[in-house]
Amino acid sequence: MDYVSTRGAAPTLDFEGVTLAGLAADGGLYVPARWPTLSTAAIRDLAGLDYVETAVRVCVPFVGDALDEAELRSLLRAAYGGFAHAAVAPLKQLDARHWLLELFHGPTLAFKDVAMQALGLLFETFVSRRSEHLTIVGATSGDTGSAAIHALAGRSNFDVFMLHPAGRVSDVQRRQMTTVQSPNIFNLAVEGTFDDAQALVKAMFNDVAFAGRFRLAAVNSINWARLMLQVVYYFYAAVRLGAPERRVSFSVPTGNFGDVFAGYVAARMGLTVGKLIVATNVNDILHRALRDGDYSVGNVAATAAPSMDIQVSSNFERLLFDLDGRDGARTAALMSGFETSRAMRLPPAMRAVAATHLVSARVDPGTMAQTMRWAVEASGELVDPHTAIGLAAAREADVDGPVVTLATAHPAKFPDAVERASGTRPGLPLRIAGLFDREERFDTLPADLAAVEAYIAARATPVRRPAVAA
Ligand SMILES: *Cc1c(COP(=O)(O)O)cnc(C)c1O
Repeated sequence: MDYVSTRGAAPTLDFEGVTLAGLAADGGLYVPARWPTLSTAAIRDLAGLDYVETAVRVCVPFVGDALDEAELRSLLRAAYGGFAHAAVAPLKQLDARHWLLELFHGPTLAFKDVAMQALGLLFETFVSRRSEHLTIVGATSGDTGSAAIHALAGRSNFDVFMLHPAGRVSDVQRRQMTTVQSPNIFNLAVEGTFDDAQALVKAMFNDVAFAGRFRLAAVNSINWARLMLQVVYYFYAAVRLGAPERRVSFSVPTGNFGDVFAGYVAARMGLTVGKLIVATNVNDILHRALRDGDYSVGNVAATAAPSMDIQVSSNFERLLFDLDGRDGARTAALMSGFETSRAMRLPPAMRAVAATHLVSARVDPGTMAQTMRWAVEASGELVDPHTAIGLAAAREADVDGPVVTLATAHPAKFPDAVERASGTRPGLPLRIAGLFDREERFDTLPADLAAVEAYIAARATPVRRPAVAA
């Protein structure tokens, strides 16, 4: 499979190249040159397969020759072997129409582990082939950071520099990052919002001199491999609920638009997806964009669902590219207009295509709390604030057939917010017991590119230059 940039002016890469790349050289994001499809018969054949086998079938066309099928299978077995639930992503029925897809059974209690556990092994495989050293820079609204750190701690071929917005992640989220005492892990608390941290990461990838000194790689959903690994659970869940004979809708608590974009990819691959419900909190740029065509950046409000406190959703660019006839020059023009004015109007034709797949909702804090209580009353399930937002949007949406809400985090990740809203304080699962007894390690930096680059340059391993013959 070849991968092309959404801005049309970067080299084409294969799966190995795209996994190790950050942003494309033209500032765009990599996407497959075409969507592979699974036939109705192939989708029917997924019935009864376990998570890993489903993942193999879904990923093979994207991976191409970069790994053979046996290597891919054993990598995925290793990635998911440590999950606390044998089904990896179990479905739970709430009432006649609503289901939860529990994606939080990995080591750090959020859905980010599903992709990151496998991405860590893909990095390891590809980097050891090239005997290289990778410098991983990432921005996190809380969950990507811990998932990446747990996937990569102690691996000597990597240094990880993870930027989180100071004071804007939950204590559990922060401690899951800062208590990992491994010499290759560096936590940076940036004085700003997640959008500031993400902008710094993008600026480092775009800084040719800096990126050239280190072999920078991305763990954010900039990275295509992460999205591919998330496509899997849409197939896994839909097939369990009757696909391809039945359409299944999904409600997705959304921030950076990666998770819901993976659902869009599943639909493009032929999965019988009903609607994809883009659930936002009061940071509702995506809801405004899909409803009115108004993609303009507002101020970021800090909420009980911090992983959705985002205004500039990186992966939206991938959707724009696909909706706009996959014309990189046009996407580049749209994005450069947006980067200057911090606003963009979505043309009606693009909105019409988007509307065939996507609907959206904005969920305020009161409705979030009420939905959390509803879940406990209706079915005894305690859900986290992000999941509650997804569930609220699912209950409001005008869609036929079953609706699966992605349960993106375990409630124990946000104990204060869950207790405030539901009256019940979730206990820490055994796999993170002791989190509050461990020592934290992080440095605080201003949201300033030069300061962050200097910090990293003083600690990262530069690219080894080939020895020059005398
Ligand atoms: C990351 C995250 C989201 C948002 O997912 P995106 O792919 O960024 O849209 C939602 N909920 C939780 C718990 C998350 O960690």
